[in-house]
Amino acid sequence: MPTPRIILLLTLSTLLALCACTGDSITDDSPSDPVVDDDGTIFVDGIAIEPAEPELVLSDEEWRERLSDEEYEILRSHGTEPAFSGDLLDNDAQGAYVCAGCGHELFSSETKYDSETGWPSYWEPIGEDSVGTEIDESFNMLRVEVHCAHCAGHLGHIFPDGPDPTGLRYCINSLALNFEPAQ
Ligand SMILES: [Zn+2]
Repeated sequence: MPTPRIILLLTLSTLLALCACTGDSITDDSPSDPVVDDDGTIFVDGIAIEPAEPELVLSDEEWRERLSDEEYEILRSHGTEPAFSGDLLDNDAQGAYVCAGCGHELFSSETKYDSETGWPSYWEPIGEDSVGTEIDESFNMLRVEVHCAHCAGHLGHIFPDGPDPTGLRYCINSLALNFEPAQ
């Protein structure tokens, strides 16, 4: 069992990471209340909330066997890695970023950009069925959570401060990704 001191340190580092990952949305630009359109789809800051129905469903024990402790903390416990700590942050090679939990293709190097936030950032997923979204109200914040559509593993969050053409920032944990270089 972790000691109370370790738990405190983990909590503090998580809070620091969250503050950094929200960027300036923690100030006056905090997200507006959810909006529901005529079809019943919920939008937060213009981002549609569309949870994925995972095809790969494993037990907690199976996930612990499959993932490292660090990967498990992000993918299965909604953790956030410390800013500027990820191996893939500065990776600018051509290729695809796949889910570290199941290998599902998530992002292309074509849409990766330097957001200067400390996490790998993309302005669009690689395909329409790559990711799902959910409302995340943890830590008294309203955010859009993004997860792998195949295994529902937590990847990060989406913020409406990205570059053209989408204006979105997919703020993704390096630990949730594996990189597959283009052939
Ligand atoms: Zn996955």
